[in-house]
Amino acid sequence: MSRRGSRRRDSGLPPLPANGLRIVPLGGLGEIGRNMTVFEHAGRLLIVDCGVLFPEEHQPGVDVILPDFTWIRDRLDKIDAIILTHGHEDHIGGVPYLLRERPDIPVVGSKLTLAFIEAKLKEHRITPVTTEVQEGQRRRLGPFDCEFVAVNHSIPDGLAVAIRTAAGIVLHTGDFKMDQFPLDRRVTDLRAFARLGEEGVDLFLVDSTNAEVPGFTISEGELAPAIETVFRTGAGRVIVSSFASHVHRIQQVLDTAHAHGRKVAFVGRSMVRNMGIASDLGYLTIPKGLVVDLKALERLPANKITLICTGSQGEPLAALSRMANRDHPIRITEGDTVLLASSLIPGNENAIYRVINELTRWGANVVHKGNAKVHVSGHASAGELAYCYNIVRPTNVLPVHGEWRHLRANADLAIRTGVAPDRAIIAEDGSVIDLIDGRASITGSVPAGLVYVDAMTVGGATEESLHVRRTLAEEGVITIVCIVDPDTGQLSEKPDFLAHGFEPDAIDFDTAVPSIQKALTSAARENIQDLDQIEELVRRAVSAWAHRQHRRSPLIIPVIVDA
Ligand SMILES: [Zn+2]
Ligand SMILES: [Zn+2]
Repeated sequence: MSRRGSRRRDSGLPPLPANGLRIVPLGGLGEIGRNMTVFEHAGRLLIVDCGVLFPEEHQPGVDVILPDFTWIRDRLDKIDAIILTHGHEDHIGGVPYLLRERPDIPVVGSKLTLAFIEAKLKEHRITPVTTEVQEGQRRRLGPFDCEFVAVNHSIPDGLAVAIRTAAGIVLHTGDFKMDQFPLDRRVTDLRAFARLGEEGVDLFLVDSTNAEVPGFTISEGELAPAIETVFRTGAGRVIVSSFASHVHRIQQVLDTAHAHGRKVAFVGRSMVRNMGIASDLGYLTIPKGLVVDLKALERLPANKITLICTGSQGEPLAALSRMANRDHPIRITEGDTVLLASSLIPGNENAIYRVINELTRWGANVVHKGNAKVHVSGHASAGELAYCYNIVRPTNVLPVHGEWRHLRANADLAIRTGVAPDRAIIAEDGSVIDLIDGRASITGSVPAGLVYVDAMTVGGATEESLHVRRTLAEEGVITIVCIVDPDTGQLSEKPDFLAHGFEPDAIDFDTAVPSIQKALTSAARENIQDLDQIEELVRRAVSAWAHRQHRRSPLIIPVIVDA
């Protein structure tokens, strides 16, 4: 398994004093996703979140990307717990892979978060050791005295966590926003933030996702008019696509559908599973008789039908993309209204617009973030963050969850509220931040490369294999079979060329033969016998020819066979 940066290289780290706390973000800094932070104190470890990152177009064939566990791998027995702040994939998606390495790491989280992770772990045939916590509770996990604080986000039951050790108090917001009128009336507990601030927050880890967005994130409830309009004006079926975890968004859709005398069916495995969990646990209230199975729904007239499905990010295997591609039993027709009640995650734009175009082509009216107010963010904007800094008055700040620009914007906000510029720390994945005597500073780094999960193999794809995949996709491949006379080292017949990704007649391969002959001649002159070395010389020669003649850099596979 060769991974980028997978060698353990932390021997250069300074020793951590007994009153010190080491904070190591292994993911989520410099990227949106795979959030994971490791805390070390008194020889013990505490992990907050363990998420995945979704691949982009330049990472073909990759399912998800994990944090690199190298730094903790030989100390798994020292982990006292993993705290999950909420149930989003970018915070819990990596847990099955961590538990594969040590299945009995205690998993700590709120009721809904644990239910989501347990359902996920069941698919991986793992039964976790769990500890359920609630806001307001305080729990000792090894040397870490943890207090859980309610935060509001785009999934119910989110928690921030305050961690008390001999090094002081650290407050980690998790993902959060400050909707003052959330559907469940569970607001971010600013009173707890203030109380912790009074006690003295030595280090504040703050969600940076929306730090560049000025003002305040509007309330989830403000989407009601746009959702209402869809149901009022939709003549036929209404098909809603959203994140399968956005319980409150789906609650709004359910209530509106009910008010308009429609019935609802959930479509897509994760949607059916999560909504079942959310309603069983009381986070989702389904009016009696509203939700029916798909068969019963299909017998109703179109204007009585609502479908709620996955695929709001254009994921190719999700229900909505398959409907758009006519690869799903639900056929989109004239009169259907499709509501994409979700964000547009950067990197997914092309896929989403492709889905919107296809749905429109089949006759659907597509309502989305770009043409109606059908989405609000789950993250605090700059205005809310500034309030938080003024309430908490932290000594040191570590912006988390964001690309570099988000972290910078968040640090700038902290500084504007009075945090000393050298105590607003912009760190990267793998940075080691030590909190000692009330001062946080970067003291080193540990491996934090991207670990690719590829059809269930962890680390099966490397940067190198992705490079090959990209080359294959963009440049094609040429295989050259050279039959060589072992005595002279020269071609004993004309080489065979097999090319893929080219028009067959576009290339005159005969023009490459002199380059190959030249390579073989120089190999013979140098008395090179090793086949691998000779193949490498031929590869370089053909590569130079392809570039010179055709301005292409295909993958070149020479095969040398003795005559
Ligand atoms: Zn989240
Ligand atoms: Zn997140």
